Amino acid sequence: MPAKEFVLYIEDLTVSFDGFKAIDSLNLYVDKDELRVIIGPNGAGKTTLLDLICGKTKASHGSIKFMDTELTKKSEHAIVRSGVGRKFQTPSIYENLSVFQNLEVSYPEGRSVFGALGFKCTDEVKAKVQVVAEEIGLADKLEMEAGLLSHGQKQWLEIGMLLMQEPELLMLDEPIAGMSARERELTAELLKRICKGRSMIVIEHDMDFVKQIASKVTVMHQGKILAEGTMDQVQSDPKVIDVYLGH
Ligand code: ADP
Repeated sequence: MPAKEFVLYIEDLTVSFDGFKAIDSLNLYVDKDELRVIIGPNGAGKTTLLDLICGKTKASHGSIKFMDTELTKKSEHAIVRSGVGRKFQTPSIYENLSVFQNLEVSYPEGRSVFGALGFKCTDEVKAKVQVVAEEIGLADKLEMEAGLLSHGQKQWLEIGMLLMQEPELLMLDEPIAGMSARERELTAELLKRICKGRSMIVIEHDMDFVKQIASKVTVMHQGKILAEGTMDQVQSDPKVIDVYLGH
């Protein structure tokens, strides 16, 4: 058990599907301001790990502590409310609404104001939309219909929709899939920017991109952690070369 306090504190996490351990006694500690990238071959357990953190899958054993809250017994909704945001690979935005409206409707329930004619935007929400739109590089596209955005811009918008909920931990699954080279560059800058003040976990296969963004890399294999460190450290680890990077 590490002496240091972490934002995310996972110990002895195990999940079995019909006797097969997809995650096997895994320990993982993620700090504030950290952008942790998880790599590993297909079937290593990366997606299952994120599913466990966000409550989509329930652990067979072990603990996931997030800022002193035990997540393993909480519902997916309660986990979102406690400050965990997850973005899947396929963007789920409202194509017929404007960029502004997509961000506006993502403001957390209970803090929004619904009038008789539908959603009413308060000054507080408007100000928040502006801040987030700037963070995701879409401040000049607020009035544009979201369906008309490029593939990359749609991905950024979805990240923005998560940021509207002010998550302390943000988890992204292959954020640059299908993006152009320029969009990848901008996404690297975006992720480094939004990581400040929170923690992030990103699953990614593109090693050049991993090098650009990662504070620390975790290599998974067969439901366990095979190696952890900087990209240079894990890339030169013989165990990693053997099972993954050497392929
Ligand atoms: P990765 O994201 O690293 O490619 P996954 O987390 O998707 O790996 O899968 C890890 C292993 O767990 C795979 O062998 C997969 O078939 C298995 N698995 C994941 N989810 C389920 C499930 N709901 N039922 C049965 N097996 C599963």
